[in-house]
Amino acid sequence: LFAGDFHFIWASPSIETLPPMAGVEIAFAGRSNVGKSSLINALTGRNALARTSSTPGRTQELIFFDGPAQAGLRLVDMPGYGYAAASKAKVASWTTLIHKYLEGRSNLARVYVLIDARHGLKDVDLDVLKTLDRSAVSYQVVLTKADQIKKSELEGRITDVRTSLATHPAAFPEVLATSSEKSEGIPELRAAMVRLLEE
Ligand code: GDP
Repeated sequence: LFAGDFHFIWASPSIETLPPMAGVEIAFAGRSNVGKSSLINALTGRNALARTSSTPGRTQELIFFDGPAQAGLRLVDMPGYGYAAASKAKVASWTTLIHKYLEGRSNLARVYVLIDARHGLKDVDLDVLKTLDRSAVSYQVVLTKADQIKKSELEGRITDVRTSLATHPAAFPEVLATSSEKSEGIPELRAAMVRLLEE
């Protein structure tokens, strides 16, 4: 499934231009620069499937990638949020786009919310978790850049995040730690995605 057969199918800047629902969707959300593009590329084995962002907060689009034919898996790269220079209007348009997408997407199996292992959950992340709770979409936190902190710190970070998640009704309690750089946690995340497909 993850042997490099993923390809771009569609970019959607607004709710009116979403592709029709097909297969199972798994979406990825996170603050700008959290390592979302790197993770999608690591998962799919493609170096430049998702463009890594040198300009944070560029076009706000939902980007759809299809897996191999017959597999029925579609990945959705959600626009990054939380960059410092974002205007209130941009934050509002992000929230509207995401909220509308989440509301109508019955084939969305899970949203992976990426959190930088060094920083943990910030206020802006908690706002996004609230949006997800309101939409009752199953989501799970995935820590990124785990290679950047010591193992002991990582354990503490996972415990802290798990504790915060306990008050979020739509959150999956388990927290995954990944490093795209070192390919750590990638097989585990792929396995979790395959289980979602089989559900
Ligand atoms: P995005 O804005 O969320 O798509 O983030 P990118 O994937 O573009 O990554 C942002 C920066 O973090 C880039 O400089 C990446 O090289 C770096 N980065 C991403 N993943 C990792 C990782 O697992 N480990 C380390 N050390 N750096 C990473």
